[in-house]
Amino acid sequence: MNLINAIHRKIFRIVSISAKNIKQDCYVIGGYVRDFLLGKRDYKDLDILTIGEGIKLAKEVSRHIKPKPKINIFKRFGTAMLEYDDKKIEFVGSRKESYYLYSRKPMIESGSLEDDQNRRDFTINSLAISLNKKNYGELIDPFGGLLDLKKKILRTPLNSDITYSDDPLRMMRAIRFASQLQFFIEKNSFQSIQKNKKRIHIVSKERITEEFNKILLSKKPSVGLFLLNESGLLSIILPELTLLQGVEERNGHKHKENFCHTLKVVDNISKEEKNTIWLRWSALLHDIGKTSTKKFLPEVGWSFHGHELVGSKMIPKIFQRLKLPKGESMIYVIKMIKNSNRPISLIGNHTRDSSIRRLLFDMGKDIEDLIKLCIADITTKNSDKKNLYTKNFYFLMDRMKKLEERDRIQNWKSPISGNDIMNTFHIQPCKEIGIIKNFIKDSILEGKISNNFCSAYFLMLKKGEELGFKKITKK
Ligand code: ATP
Ligand code: MG
Repeated sequence: MNLINAIHRKIFRIVSISAKNIKQDCYVIGGYVRDFLLGKRDYKDLDILTIGEGIKLAKEVSRHIKPKPKINIFKRFGTAMLEYDDKKIEFVGSRKESYYLYSRKPMIESGSLEDDQNRRDFTINSLAISLNKKNYGELIDPFGGLLDLKKKILRTPLNSDITYSDDPLRMMRAIRFASQLQFFIEKNSFQSIQKNKKRIHIVSKERITEEFNKILLSKKPSVGLFLLNESGLLSIILPELTLLQGVEERNGHKHKENFCHTLKVVDNISKEEKNTIWLRWSALLHDIGKTSTKKFLPEVGWSFHGHELVGSKMIPKIFQRLKLPKGESMIYVIKMIKNSNRPISLIGNHTRDSSIRRLLFDMGKDIEDLIKLCIADITTKNSDKKNLYTKNFYFLMDRMKKLEERDRIQNWKSPISGNDIMNTFHIQPCKEIGIIKNFIKDSILEGKISNNFCSAYFLMLKKGEELGFKKITKK
């Protein structure tokens, strides 16, 4: 197959000429070729393989680009990276790898194109396109990768047991590609993953999490999450999720199958126009408190009372274990899970404005995401019920919008500051200042006073006097 017409990018010409100058053959390989053949015309990174020294080729290429691009050299790995046109171009010399049992870092020696293609993880990732004059644009496909692309199959070029055992990160990559591309993992290959699952322990948490995040960011994350579960990897990486599996029945009462439900919620949230990885994590973990709160109450049936709070408290440990970032992202996930049941409790005409104001106050700018999560959480198959529940949330949003327009609660800042209180009563910092401020906040949220300085000022005077302070007028 000749791809000469398809290779139109200026950069390939430059690489080709540079490689000729230093008498090293070179090829485009890996993700770019795969995605190009899948019809994607954009790329984020480009891998150039050369039979010889990667760094030497990168240096030669950089001489032909104006202005001279930034070049990063990784001497230890014999690789180099150029930044060109907002893209990263990676240069690597062809190599042969052999592995030790306790590390995924191989012993490396230089090798032929064939050796290099052999060490790649999947047939669809070992496709190469020649950039050499003699066969410019020719696809070099020793393992039938093109056919696998057509059949949507993930297959390892060599023995799958050895491939996964050598570098167990490839198990995560297999499932990540299956989820991103919606491909099937070949039966033998999947069995090898099941067999080698425990080898995942030699992979760093950061690399596992990087692949896990890619699964979570794919169009339909349940594809990858189901495969992770079936392979046995999920119970190693995130046992809190696998524990949600199963349905119990007592006195004719069954509860929801919380694992499949969770995956459906994640898929639903992923369809939302604006959603972040952290909203997806919130959906993924929103029910993890159900395992330890599950109870059977003879009068009512199954209960998971308080699972939101319990679940939210499990987050820091999980984030720590998976080396996910702490700080704002983690606080957001905790907040989403902790409050995930509040909107539903506010549905109905009898809900007081003050309860809605309190939710607006607690959620701030994240209120929209919380409602998205609640709507994604509706997984009933009964379409009448689904429509009714969704409509209820739209009504609630409507009320929230009106209240917000009137009372401006979401970005609420007390109209009275601690300094105002100290100056008025001529007092030093003390706990009473907090009491007065809280009293003002509660009165505004309860709708007892309006959200403005004047109303808050008079309330401050009243509360201050109650606490034994006197207004001091400066002369
Ligand atoms: P994307 O960049 O879209 O996530 P990719 O396939 O380009 O996908 P990279 O991590 O950029 O993934 O790797 C580039 C190429 O290097 C892959 O296509 C594959 O040929 C090879 N590769 C990467 N990681 C491994 C690995 N762990 N084992 C074997 N080959 C690998
Ligand atoms: Mg890539």
